[in-house]
Amino acid sequence: MTPEEFRSWILPPKQAEGDEEGEILTGEGYELSLPNLEEDEETEREALDKAVEYCRSGKVAYISVINGVGKAFIEGSKWYEIDFRLNGDMMTGMYCECMYPGLCKHLLAAAITIRALAKTAGLDTERDFTAIDENRFWSMVAPTAKRVTL
Ligand SMILES: [Zn+2]
Repeated sequence: MTPEEFRSWILPPKQAEGDEEGEILTGEGYELSLPNLEEDEETEREALDKAVEYCRSGKVAYISVINGVGKAFIEGSKWYEIDFRLNGDMMTGMYCECMYPGLCKHLLAAAITIRALAKTAGLDTERDFTAIDENRFWSMVAPTAKRVTL
């Protein structure tokens, strides 16, 4: 098979070699401790409530962390791509495309999802991972098939 014949695939984002940290992320300077995000002084109640609702309704579609550099896609009024760094249970260098002047519901929804994956699915946040919402996964790979349990 020639390279031209090979279809394009979407792979987890990776940190390009030689990139400076500051060139990748335009972080807002927030730091979130995942176990304590409800208590964080930057966390606003309304944004947190909306983030929980986003998680419940499956709007967090995809999260990937490679070498501590994270990316997530959240479905809101449009698709929002967020960037962050993850070091154990600390999220830093967070950036979202939305215009919210603070810690937004998209970033909080990603944080809540990662914490829940660690708690309920045994995700090791010290290691690289890629996670896709189960319903979205099956609707992509087998939209008409009966859901199969892996
Ligand atoms: Zn946002």
